[in-house]
Amino acid sequence: MTVHVWGYLDEYQQEREEILECVDTVFSSGKLILGKSVHMFEQEFADYHSVAHCVGVDNGTNAIKLALEALGIGPGDEVITVSNTAAPTVVAIVSTGATPVFVDVREDDFLMDTTLISAAITARTKAIVPVHLYGQCVDMAAVSAIAREHGLAVVEDCAQAHGARQHGHLAGTWGDASSFSFYPTKVLGAYGDGGAVLTPNEETDRALRRLRFYGMESDYHTVATPAHNSRLDEVHAEILRKKLTRLDRYIDQRRAVAARYGRDLGDTALTLPSTVKGNEHVYYVYVVRHPARDSIIAAMQEHGVQLNVSYRWPVHLMTGFAHLGYREGSLPVTEKLAGEIFSLPMFASLRRDDQDHTVEALRDVLGRI
Ligand SMILES: *Cc1c(COP(=O)(O)O)cnc(C)c1O
Repeated sequence: MTVHVWGYLDEYQQEREEILECVDTVFSSGKLILGKSVHMFEQEFADYHSVAHCVGVDNGTNAIKLALEALGIGPGDEVITVSNTAAPTVVAIVSTGATPVFVDVREDDFLMDTTLISAAITARTKAIVPVHLYGQCVDMAAVSAIAREHGLAVVEDCAQAHGARQHGHLAGTWGDASSFSFYPTKVLGAYGDGGAVLTPNEETDRALRRLRFYGMESDYHTVATPAHNSRLDEVHAEILRKKLTRLDRYIDQRRAVAARYGRDLGDTALTLPSTVKGNEHVYYVYVVRHPARDSIIAAMQEHGVQLNVSYRWPVHLMTGFAHLGYREGSLPVTEKLAGEIFSLPMFASLRRDDQDHTVEALRDVLGRI
């Protein structure tokens, strides 16, 4: 028996006919790029959030990059974010030519410590990229107030937070632009790469459409650079349309998995995830903490349970970002968490017996450590 930390095959078995119908719809439509499926998905994803505009793009990394570029951010600018995130958040910022500036996170919920933002602002700061990590939102009242006070743009990285809410408001509804990934593991996942940007602003929407399409508007004439080819694919858009109708159900299923972990592991030495007051968590991943993380992972492997670490290397200490000048000790909470966190199997179609096996094995391993 092997329990995977994430898998889509059970879901595919359950939804296979509908998924294949989506593929056939697109392949039979006569239009394979920027056709009806992308158009409809953009409208439906915007409606789900009650935000005016949605632009489908090729992945979540480029969603952040295009959002920043659409807001005029580029070389010479600074963008405040966290190191305790998936590397693509930072890859995207760097790829615009801007410089990422990191603030530390809070130890209890792993989220951006918004009390540190003001001290990180310089004359070159242009934007804040809060990351709604693991499935719950950064304190957006605080981020929005600081941004307003200093005239900064806000780009929410919602790659892990589809459907997450804070005081009733959906992730992606505060920012000047908000990026989403539909990478297959995400709470709303395609059958390949995909992404989107939400924006309430018509100008930003137009800029995003240009940026994803060679800098062109209507004619085949590039009117502005930077420009890219970053289109969402028709076939993924059609599958996403179908899956969007089930997003709330997927989230309920993830919450049920989380509730069972909470019930069955609450009396162990693991530190379980906590939900911030006012937040509704969607559990993109279920991240726990223990100082003996690596021996637990190795022992669980012998029980046939695959565990994961999101993330083992803080971004600011990765070789590829050495030029930013951060050192060990620069972000103490981020660095401490990186040594202790690991994720338990979590996805909407996780089978009950696989979860039971995971819990039993974990209790056994923890009892012997
Ligand atoms: C997955 C992820 C991304 C990147 O999305 P891709 O579609 O893989 O490019 C960006 N930020 C965060 C926080 C993510 O989890």
